[in-house]
Amino acid sequence: MKFKLDKKDFENFLKDLMETYDLFAPVQLTEGVSVFKKIDKPEEVNLTQLVPQKSAKEVFFPQSETMFRYEMSENQSPIVSEQKIGRERVLLGARPCDIEAIFIVEKVFIGEDYTDVYFLEKRKKTTIITLACNHPLTTCFCSSTGGGPFRKDGSDLFMIDLGESYLVELLTEKGLAFSKNRFFKEAGSKEIRLVKELEEKAAKKTDSSIPVEGIEKRLDLMVESPFWDRIHEKCIGCGTCTFLCPTCHCFDITDEATNQKGERVRNWDSCLFPIYSLETSGHNPRPTGRERTRQRLMHKFNYYPKNFGRVACVGCGRCILYCPVQFDVREAILYTSSRRTEGRKGKFK
Ligand code: SF4
Ligand code: SF4
Repeated sequence: MKFKLDKKDFENFLKDLMETYDLFAPVQLTEGVSVFKKIDKPEEVNLTQLVPQKSAKEVFFPQSETMFRYEMSENQSPIVSEQKIGRERVLLGARPCDIEAIFIVEKVFIGEDYTDVYFLEKRKKTTIITLACNHPLTTCFCSSTGGGPFRKDGSDLFMIDLGESYLVELLTEKGLAFSKNRFFKEAGSKEIRLVKELEEKAAKKTDSSIPVEGIEKRLDLMVESPFWDRIHEKCIGCGTCTFLCPTCHCFDITDEATNQKGERVRNWDSCLFPIYSLETSGHNPRPTGRERTRQRLMHKFNYYPKNFGRVACVGCGRCILYCPVQFDVREAILYTSSRRTEGRKGKFK
């Protein structure tokens, strides 16, 4: 089902949404810095930045999350309270790459042998309204990683910006709950034609030439390649790429306690930090940037595909856009497909 939503009605559409749902959407914090957060007022929603610095991952897997609180007292067991999600939620305005990434992270958090209740609870209670990318950036390469600027998979509703209005497509049962929305008007052939044009133009703008196909097999042959000696040299280990990446999902758990009270907190972590793999004995199996950079790339392009059948990269380009030393993951991927890698000193710059 396809509808038209006029932009003049958009703020009231959001107001209505917020009566029933907790709304999460991109918000501009400072000039050019945009993140996903819970919306307090409809006018906070800002859909202008194509790739907000922090991804929609945070809506399901926050940077810092209290898992439970506890209090000890004599002759009593600890009192534990789990954090529950109250209202149903809507995630609005995430782009197709961020939605694809949620499903990559989900495979780890909701596995066959275990389920992460904190992630699951949020996923079950969230309706996803995706926004298509009419103008992909030069750093976008979603078409190389199996996605695309108009990819609808994983969305409950799919929105396309037509200038004066949005075309809204209802795709799932959760999406169909919106079919009687008072602001939705029937979409005509003019809108449908415009969508086709926009989709064709956007497809031409994303880079589909990055050789991601078969990369896990190429990396199998490169575990001890000189490539790793060169590639890590300019990385300063700040962890920006891993924190902003929508698919990175490493975390650390700490107890923050005073006297008899405390809380258990889960925080994002990064395999690029020196102490990430430091063992209590003092031994560190990844003592230098060489091993840590290898871990970052191997996890995304070798271990994850072997476990789950696809690379853990959606081509959003955040790690390229925001790395302070211009480390470009596309160059690393290209290098793996070059014959130069085998047994010779790498030329990675
Ligand atoms: S953002 Fe760049 S410098 Fe920072 S850890 Fe990642 S690759 Fe290294
Ligand atoms: S590795 Fe880089 S391009 Fe790929 S999903 Fe992560 S941030 Fe985006």
